[in-house]
Amino acid sequence: MNKLKIGVLTLQGGFDKHIESLVKLGADVVKVREAVTLESIDGLIIPGGESTTIIRLLKNFNIYDSLRQKIIEGLPVFGTCAGMILLSGGITSHEDQETLKLMNYKVSRNDYGRQIDSFDAELSIKGLDGSPVPAVFIRAPRITEISETVEILSEFEGSPVMVREKNMLAASFHPELTDDIRVHSLFLSMVSS
Ligand code: GLN
Repeated sequence: MNKLKIGVLTLQGGFDKHIESLVKLGADVVKVREAVTLESIDGLIIPGGESTTIIRLLKNFNIYDSLRQKIIEGLPVFGTCAGMILLSGGITSHEDQETLKLMNYKVSRNDYGRQIDSFDAELSIKGLDGSPVPAVFIRAPRITEISETVEILSEFEGSPVMVREKNMLAASFHPELTDDIRVHSLFLSMVSS
């Protein structure tokens, strides 16, 4: 079988660790900074970072429309943290902020703990057996509204933190900041199915 060619959106944010996790899994990794690169990949990761900046750069570099179209046509995508915000149908805490409006949930930004911005948790994730999966939350978005069309793969503190809808996967947390590559491997199995 040919190696899977996975794009990582490298406009801004924490993309390096995603690249490391994908390389560990044997994927061929491509940095995505232009719309044309979307034509040659089998799947795409939208990393964490600053969602306002990433959306602005997607527009400035004319990637927004092609990216949205490619995902609608079935390109498998995985958004973590800011990436989850970008894939969402809207932002309840910042209603004027634009998103890609692709998945049927809404989020509130920076919604886990006002005092402690970042924390680690252990999650049980549907489809991943064995020990709990370590997860790092950094000023993470909380899902505040969700449609029945979205499958909840993991919950924390009573809110969904990892969800799937068709070819789209999103997580509030950063799986790439731990040595555990099971979440990335789950995404790669979505890409190859
Ligand atoms: N707080 C950031 C935002 O709202 C997301 C944080 C992250 O991606 N780690 O865009």
